[in-house]
Amino acid sequence: MKAIGAVDIGGTKIAVGIVDDSGRVLSRQEAPTQTAGPWPQALTLIADMLRKAALQGHATIAGIGIGSTGPVDPLKGRFENLDTIPQWSGASPVDDLSRAFHVSVAMENDADAGALGEASWGAGQNKSRLIYITVGTGIGGGIILDGRLYRGVDGAHPEVGHQVLEANGPPCSCGLRGCWEALAAGPAMVKWMESHPEYTGGPGLTARRIYEHAMAGDPLAARAVERETFYLGIGLANLVNLFTPDAIILGGSVIKSAGVFLEDIRKVMQQGCRFVPLEKVEITLASLGDDANLIGAARVWHHRFAQRQ
Ligand SMILES: [Zn+2]
Repeated sequence: MKAIGAVDIGGTKIAVGIVDDSGRVLSRQEAPTQTAGPWPQALTLIADMLRKAALQGHATIAGIGIGSTGPVDPLKGRFENLDTIPQWSGASPVDDLSRAFHVSVAMENDADAGALGEASWGAGQNKSRLIYITVGTGIGGGIILDGRLYRGVDGAHPEVGHQVLEANGPPCSCGLRGCWEALAAGPAMVKWMESHPEYTGGPGLTARRIYEHAMAGDPLAARAVERETFYLGIGLANLVNLFTPDAIILGGSVIKSAGVFLEDIRKVMQQGCRFVPLEKVEITLASLGDDANLIGAARVWHHRFAQRQ
């Protein structure tokens, strides 16, 4: 059978899979990004993984979709100045994989890929104005309007994680202070807790552990969770005020823990969304699970090349 080869390029791992026309992952392969080496070597690794996955999934690769850590130029199919893998900057995975497999290839920023996956095969089906937000080591987002990915000038991807919530807040990798990402991504939550004078735990703290401590009754962890809920709510309230979408879908590793606080997040949003119909905006958790990025990467190909459905 024919299926799409999906490539998810992240700062810590590269996942490759074969995804059928209904968004089902038939097979998958994984490798750490840090040991992949310079781009020509990484390309060989990715191509090998795709071939192995195709064999495992008993499929022929009919096209390849890529979701990558950014920034990328989706229209030229090129990595730009990659924040996490700088040595690959300027490489053209779309051209290279297209030459290696003789199929059409498309690439998007991974948050946009995630948005496309959820919009077509996940929690965002039948929503004409959809925002997908992923909260993990950073905060990213993708905006889908009438089934099509929203692009800015020259194909640019909007950076919702760098909306400023506290102009005098903690410094962000972008140069500003108090960005949503610098306040509410996983590392920001850990930093806040570890630097608190009352913190007595050791190193190796994670957002997930903070949630676990909070659930077990640790008062400082409970404050960290309360702070996280507040900043997630404020950032989302801004998005609702700006876009009044039909739905916002939340994914990413921090949301896996924060999801149980969805009602509290919504309460924060209510304080900041008085002039827009927040009650009509669905705030929901992503539904594609651990394969969301791969499924999204496959959907990148459909979005670019398949007939509009
Ligand atoms: Zn920033």
